[in-house]
Amino acid sequence: MEHFDCVVIGGGMVGATSALTLAQLGLQVALVEKHPPAEFRAEQPLDLRVSAISLASQNLLKQVGAWQQVEQWRACPYKRLGVWEHDSAYTEFNAQDIEQAHLGHIVENRLIQLALWQQVNAMTNIRTFCPESLLSLEQNDNSTCAAYDGAINPNAKVTLTLTNTRLTAKLVIGADGAKSKVRSMSAIGMTGWDYQQSAMLINVETSLPQQDITWQQFFPTGPVAFLPLPGQSQLGGYASLVWYHQRDEITRLAALSNNQLQHEVLKKFPNRLGNIKVLAKAKFSLTRRHANRYQHKQVLLLGDAAHTINPMAGQGVNLGFKDVLALQHVIAEAIGNGEVWYNEKVLARYEKARRNENLLMMSTMDALYAGFSHRSPLVKAARNIALLAVNKVPFVNSTIKNKALAYACGI
Ligand SMILES: Cc1cc2nc3c(=O)[nH]c(=O)nc-3n(C[C@H](O)[C@H](O)[C@H](O)COP(=O)(O)OP(=O)(O)OC[C@H]3O[C@@H](n4cnc5c(N)ncnc54)[C@H](O)[C@@H]3O)c2cc1C
Repeated sequence: MEHFDCVVIGGGMVGATSALTLAQLGLQVALVEKHPPAEFRAEQPLDLRVSAISLASQNLLKQVGAWQQVEQWRACPYKRLGVWEHDSAYTEFNAQDIEQAHLGHIVENRLIQLALWQQVNAMTNIRTFCPESLLSLEQNDNSTCAAYDGAINPNAKVTLTLTNTRLTAKLVIGADGAKSKVRSMSAIGMTGWDYQQSAMLINVETSLPQQDITWQQFFPTGPVAFLPLPGQSQLGGYASLVWYHQRDEITRLAALSNNQLQHEVLKKFPNRLGNIKVLAKAKFSLTRRHANRYQHKQVLLLGDAAHTINPMAGQGVNLGFKDVLALQHVIAEAIGNGEVWYNEKVLARYEKARRNENLLMMSTMDALYAGFSHRSPLVKAARNIALLAVNKVPFVNSTIKNKALAYACGI
């Protein structure tokens, strides 16, 4: 049975980044992943799963050496962000307002994961187990004991059974996504609910040159959004459209042919979209989940395993990357102070650093979602006045708007 300081279950964007940041501290790390990501070829069509990567996440990806590769492959920087409900309350956020060259990049999830895996494979203190799947996890009931003054027994280990092998670790990290097995096997409960909504992702060719902006218009049935994608198409450029609606309606739309869907998009999306050609589509249901705790008996959760958020503001993986950075800081500090870095007392500092911020972001998204879904004319007027104020009232414009923008960019 091989032993590691840390075993990370799930080699998605968050898990692979965490493996790298922990290896940077000199720890012996194992990374376990079910499905190897498909190799990149320049002629491949753009994937449907893309993320808006904030400036803070870009910095973290640079720190672990993956960003340079992502940029070389393909990524689309955007400088402006437009939001509105009624046309007259259109509000635009601009990178210039916070003295940045851009607000973020739209990147295919698989390319981020692949670039991270290149770095993982170059590290001598990371072993990968892929394709491998977690089957069971045994936590040590004697992980704390009187002999160690109520602190962790330094010999305590977590034992993992994978499909083909068994491993032990001082710390197991669950970065295995929204339906985390690590979370359920370590008896960490969660709260959550189903939004009764789905999102349809639609990759399109676009006729209008608008590759430097991402925009979102709110409707009581849910927002519609435009995310620019890199490259040039026959029609002009590429984009990812996101259409939020009640589950039944998204199921109906998903059953249409690309041609039929194109007509529906042109009917429902704002005119600023211009002409489009639908290339590919897929639907996703929206759920909210929050783990009741982020760590327990040498098992710790990161990213979607700890929290899944309404994707409306594109913050999901960005929050996961913030978890990764917080954990690296906490462990680095503990090692520096000569503490047992996998002690519950140490790991609780990670939870303290992240839990409230994640909760705040999740609740803000829910409040926005509920606020914009409300059909009352009074509420509608209030939210459009609020958006107008953000754009037109000088104090609100220069202070609140820019602070909100900097926060969304993670700076
Ligand atoms: C429609 C939609 C749009 C979104 N847009 C954005 C956006 O613009 N910006 C943003 O920041 N976020 C966005 N998100 C959220 C973002 O996609 C997630 O937050 C992110 O993918 C979470 O990354 P993760 O690594 O935590 O989990 P995942 O991406 O789910 O990765 C988990 C990994 O664990 C592996 N795994 C699972 N179980 C096991 C097991 N038992 N053994 C071994 N391996 C296992 C899986 O194969 C996978 O590779 C969006 C989400 C949705 C649904």
